[in-house]
Amino acid sequence: MTDARVLYRSTRGNGGPEVPFEQALLRGPAPDGGLYVPVDIPALPAGWDAADSMADVARTVLPPFVGAKAADAVADALDFQVPLVPLGDDFVLELFHGPTAAFKDVGARSLARLMQQALERRGGSATILVATSGDTGSAVADAFAGLSRLQVGLLYPSGGVSRVQEDQLTARRPGVRAFAVEGTFDDCQRMVKEAFSDPALASLALSSANSINVGRLLPQTLYYLWGALQARRSLGSEDDLTMVVPSGNLGNLTAGLMAQRMGLPGVRFVAAHNRNDYFVRFLDGRAEAYGFGASVSTLSNAMDVGAPSNFERLHEDLGQQLREQVEGETVDDATTLQRMRVTYEKHGYLACPHTAVGLEAWSRVKARTAAERRGVVLATAHPAKFPESVQRATGVTPTAPAALAAFQTAPKLVERISATAEALRAALLDRPDFNA
Ligand SMILES: *Cc1c(COP(=O)(O)O)cnc(C)c1O
Repeated sequence: MTDARVLYRSTRGNGGPEVPFEQALLRGPAPDGGLYVPVDIPALPAGWDAADSMADVARTVLPPFVGAKAADAVADALDFQVPLVPLGDDFVLELFHGPTAAFKDVGARSLARLMQQALERRGGSATILVATSGDTGSAVADAFAGLSRLQVGLLYPSGGVSRVQEDQLTARRPGVRAFAVEGTFDDCQRMVKEAFSDPALASLALSSANSINVGRLLPQTLYYLWGALQARRSLGSEDDLTMVVPSGNLGNLTAGLMAQRMGLPGVRFVAAHNRNDYFVRFLDGRAEAYGFGASVSTLSNAMDVGAPSNFERLHEDLGQQLREQVEGETVDDATTLQRMRVTYEKHGYLACPHTAVGLEAWSRVKARTAAERRGVVLATAHPAKFPESVQRATGVTPTAPAALAAFQTAPKLVERISATAEALRAALLDRPDFNA
């Protein structure tokens, strides 16, 4: 046992067994198919707001949830800047200064360190399998590479990711194998699912790293706390803040609402969606709970989610109250490009398409909000990850940060396989030790 105090239960648990953090972490989804949520949410400790870095917030706030040693591991994982950048009267909180230049680095790096620590304590090792359409795969590969008790297999649709994304996915890393699947993203997801229930692969101890894992969710509460702290310091006041969240699978928003329930005062939320706007329609009363649809592809492709899995956490926890705490906005591709252009013209700021969906949503909400509120728009990816859209909207080619540029020339390693469970099984069993 660790010194974590909070227990976790399944969203479908009906008072079923409550498990300690490490168990929820290593399992991913609960055995009944639900998602783990904290049974209770301890209040922020006195003095938390004296923190001088996000790592500091992690060490102060996370111990009751994950244990002190695990909180230290998260603090170590978050060794990059999360700057709050003024944009007119409002702010952008840049979450993309991690190694793969997207906010998925926050959750993936934390999850990797937490799993490594738990496996060291309990003994054992695991193989993470991820189906990816882009950003998640590279963040996970980067985060887990070189950890002694973990190895990673990435499956992506061959020809279905951008060049920048493919460079990142196929960069040769210790303990990582990249599989270019001759099929679609849906094929990749199906193959991963089949592998999990394939008895021939039991010895690999397969596990997942997707956004439903509590080990990714909890660390994401930290930048809400840190962002609000920075905003209030810079304003010199306790002004009310609206956090604007470019959303897809709703993990990010779920973490924000969790930060609020820890006791972060004076914050409201805007869920900013592209045309995949099931959640916006739910908030407006135009869609039933769980009345999901198929996804459509957009310029902000990391948010192209038809059936957001974290909806279950939000709905089970907050139900109708959700409608009081969150406003939703839908932004189409044309308006996204226009917002990218206007933001560049007005402020000289280059936004990626996801961030632009947030900026547009905030400009609408702000226009109809009477009370004086400052907006904090979460910037979820570096514009250089989406050079075509940025160029199209603004005429400017964004400069890639050094870490991103390095992937272009890094040695690559990729294995091409057909889109069948048998092909994946054969490849995995052929070289079960990914470092061999
Ligand atoms: C994943 C992602 C999102 C959406 O976050 P969710 O937690 O899935 O709602 C937004 N922007 C970018 C760049 C992402 O990679």
